[in-house]
Amino acid sequence: MATKVHQTICPMDCPDTCALSISVSDGKIDRISAGNNHPNTNGFICTKLSRFARRVYSSGRLYSPLRNFGTKIAPEFRTISWDSAIEEITSRFRNISEKWGGEAILPYNYGGSNGFLSDEFTDAYFFALMGASQLEKTLCAAPTTLVATGMYGKMPGVAYEDFIHSKAIIIWGANPGKSHIHLMPYLKEARSNGAFIANIDPVKTSSSAQADLHLPVQPGTDLPLALAMINYWTENGLLDKKFIREFACNEESLLCTAKKWSIESAAEVCGIPAYDIHQLADIYAKCSPALIRCGWGLERNRNGGQAVAAILAIPALMGKFGVRGGGYTLSNSGFLIYNRSKRYTPPKNGTRMLNMTRLGAILNDSSLNPTIKSIFIYNSNPVATVPDQNEIIRGLQRDDLFTVVFDQVMTDSAQFADIILPATTFLEHHDFRRSYGTYHYGKIDPVIAPAGKSRSNHQVFSALGRAMGWQDEIFKENDALLAEKIESDFQFYKNAGDGSGFTPVLFESVFPATANGKINLCPDGLGKDPFAYIPHESGQYSMTLISPATNKTINSTMGEYNLPEQFALINPLDAVKRDIDSHCKVRIFNDLGEVLCKIRISREVREGVVVLPKGAWRKSSINGSTATALTPANVNIVGGGACFNDARVEVEKLV
Ligand code: SF4
Repeated sequence: MATKVHQTICPMDCPDTCALSISVSDGKIDRISAGNNHPNTNGFICTKLSRFARRVYSSGRLYSPLRNFGTKIAPEFRTISWDSAIEEITSRFRNISEKWGGEAILPYNYGGSNGFLSDEFTDAYFFALMGASQLEKTLCAAPTTLVATGMYGKMPGVAYEDFIHSKAIIIWGANPGKSHIHLMPYLKEARSNGAFIANIDPVKTSSSAQADLHLPVQPGTDLPLALAMINYWTENGLLDKKFIREFACNEESLLCTAKKWSIESAAEVCGIPAYDIHQLADIYAKCSPALIRCGWGLERNRNGGQAVAAILAIPALMGKFGVRGGGYTLSNSGFLIYNRSKRYTPPKNGTRMLNMTRLGAILNDSSLNPTIKSIFIYNSNPVATVPDQNEIIRGLQRDDLFTVVFDQVMTDSAQFADIILPATTFLEHHDFRRSYGTYHYGKIDPVIAPAGKSRSNHQVFSALGRAMGWQDEIFKENDALLAEKIESDFQFYKNAGDGSGFTPVLFESVFPATANGKINLCPDGLGKDPFAYIPHESGQYSMTLISPATNKTINSTMGEYNLPEQFALINPLDAVKRDIDSHCKVRIFNDLGEVLCKIRISREVREGVVVLPKGAWRKSSINGSTATALTPANVNIVGGGACFNDARVEVEKLV
């Protein structure tokens, strides 16, 4: 048996971007383990990826294009050739475009791959030529990206390996123990070096277990917590006025709004002891280096973007930059800058933008002009991941909607397709990946042959472009050469040298990439009253539903085998009030829908909060519904971000 071991990079939507080692015997994967070409991988990878062969050889894997010869509700998929699939898609697109205009076509894609060639490259070019509607990417990171870029530009943050230098670390709205596990060894080392670690999260997680202080805030109250600490530091003369004068601007609105919050009033809203907030504020103020790891969990509510702005202002107000291990980390993707304008820039055509979070409403909105006549879904499984699941299903069941799904396996969304196209996995195609957590990047080469007749993103959209009769060079490129060209279009952030071993000291080796070079403490997009807290009105549903990433699912990719059954998590006090014990099945419901599933009772979740897993597939619950069936599609005014944690529900015993 011929065995070969290949080195590659993980392209999943995960900050770690691990180095991978893939052992292949006789053309088949027999082992996926940690690779040896990047130190942050540190000899281990997550179980999601180590079991990725399950997806590659899954019984649900798509090997050939399929056409639905039944109905949307009772589909009957039969194999068709690539030629007839491409011919049917392009002729339907032509007809739609002639009759209603290109905007009646909606491309729908998200984080199924973070490779540069497999997402937003040839596909973006194709849909721009088509004059299709554009998708506003808001499911995750829209508010944080808008705010962080408005405040600091694309400045890279503190590297994982520099956490060990910090004396105080706040892990805020992030759970590295589950969703970026390669930070954990550095956190442990920092703690054994004497660092104080605090974790702010409604749930006590494995990351909280590594912390000295856990603040289980009520979801959506991070803004008052940040403002109260800022006010406390202001009143006690602890702000670094010299640093603010020299390196920041527009602090007035933040400081003025913060004045309204005492630690006691924030403690009441957040549902945590005032003593703990005092302790955190005092320790952070006196320690240097001090570091905030700001995550994406805290943006998922109506106050999320504003909260991120207040939190990212803290290291500036307190003068925590200029030392190794001091400042903040959010996305580090700014270490390597991609210049898309160098090659195959999609033509700008000014077509309308549609917010992806509002997909259900968009598909069912008869007042849209034009209404959506076709949706092309790829790198995404919106039925499982996007708010208002039932409304999305209702839209996808429209007989007059021409739906194409391009994916590796039969997803919850593919069930509603007219045409399904089989996609390669990252082990079967060429790509290029840049991390947004670690400082890791590189080319991805195939290690096995494509499964069946599956094709890469570039191959599919090139074929569609050629079938449309377009002569653009991009549709003639080959995957391998294009991946190499993309690689050459990157350049390292100023002062990053050739990137090898680069770990910045913020405000020493990297500075804000803003217009005036200063930190803007009141970035655009925060609204009329930038830091005003909007309380959640108490309605008939008393519990808050959150749906964080787990060690089995960061998004829905791999949920089909990693999360075969979902459980809801509630606090014992909530269980007792509802006569629920750990053997019960429960109904979690609100006006949008209901989820029937098993329960786990745990003190790890705060009273008044229900936790369901992010990325679960429909088959994992009793009634084919997941957390998104209960999630409203309202969006944050900052960046139009999804507000998953604004879901309010009730829980009852299922009898
Ligand atoms: S930890 Fe993240 S980057 Fe590493 S293998 Fe798992 S999904 Fe990929």
